[in-house]
Amino acid sequence: MQLFRCESCGHRVYFENTQCNQCGAVLGFDPDHLSMAAIRPLGDDRWQSVATGQHSDTLYRQCGNYSRHEVCNWLLPDTSQQGFCVACRLNQTIPDLSVGTNKTLWGRLEAEKRRLVYSLLKLNLPLTAKADEQQGLAFRFLADTAPQFNESGRVMTGHEDGVITLNIAEADPVAREAMRSQMAEPYRTMLGHFRHESGHYYWDRLIWNSAWLEEFRQCFGDERQDYGLALEALYSQGPAANWQDNHVSAYASAHPWEDWAETWAHYLHMTDTLETAYQFGLSLHPRVTEDSDKNIEQHFNPYFDTRIDSLLEHWLPLTYALNSLNRSMGHGDLYPFVLSPGAVRKLGLVHDVIHGAPLVA
Ligand SMILES: [Zn+2]
Ligand SMILES: [Zn+2]
Ligand SMILES: [Zn+2]
Repeated sequence: MQLFRCESCGHRVYFENTQCNQCGAVLGFDPDHLSMAAIRPLGDDRWQSVATGQHSDTLYRQCGNYSRHEVCNWLLPDTSQQGFCVACRLNQTIPDLSVGTNKTLWGRLEAEKRRLVYSLLKLNLPLTAKADEQQGLAFRFLADTAPQFNESGRVMTGHEDGVITLNIAEADPVAREAMRSQMAEPYRTMLGHFRHESGHYYWDRLIWNSAWLEEFRQCFGDERQDYGLALEALYSQGPAANWQDNHVSAYASAHPWEDWAETWAHYLHMTDTLETAYQFGLSLHPRVTEDSDKNIEQHFNPYFDTRIDSLLEHWLPLTYALNSLNRSMGHGDLYPFVLSPGAVRKLGLVHDVIHGAPLVA
């Protein structure tokens, strides 16, 4: 993620901010330019950028979920016919906001969803709302009767035909941690869910019926094997003993579709985290005995770099440092994964598909 500057006073501001801490300017994220705008109201639902120069006469409206619910901080061009920003436009169902903590939980999910959408936009992936075209994407945020994982009538997180469903209990840290522990997962986050489920969506959109399909099958295996049986086997017998040799996670070993979604999510973890590191000027060359390296590569950009090897060269040392930093603070590993050569090969295919897409047969 980029770091942003307040257009009004130059102070550092962050992706989630709605106001500058330094000068009090109202902020909004402009998804068309992937930039943060400082805005002032014109009194008729329209807002004007306070910036001088490039965007000085740009007029905006706040996303409906910004102005009404304060669960979004994104903007639309004044000329747009839509009521919601490009991220909120993807929502098909939101929870009943009159019920208990639903609004708080939903707000947390929206914040993570925007981080996913940022990456999809930055990677230039096709992104349209199902409300606008059949092959578009949609989100449903559903609640069990109480915000917990309820055995009867449980809302299952998943993807089907362009619709991603999330149980809003995922936004409750106690419920999520209980589930993570029960499932013996090393990593479970809202953002991880969004990235994983988007992987299923983009498999349909970029791999299925495309020239990539054969290469996908060679790399990930044949997805025509029975999906239900494969998941059942994983849950009843556990993953294969040597799953680490070829998969980023134990769950990935269940079926080629899950392998793709897990690898895709992993790729998005890498690019976003690398961008954040570079925005802070972190040097990623471990020096065990020498002084730290002063020559940060200024032009490395994880979103546009064309070689997976180059991404990994930067990624692995960073993860060692991040894990060590976390442990210095008494936390577990930030990045509880080990990338085997087999998993790296699959990351390479995700990288190629993203940078080569669309490639329709
Ligand atoms: Zn400011
Ligand atoms: Zn929005
Ligand atoms: Zn999945």
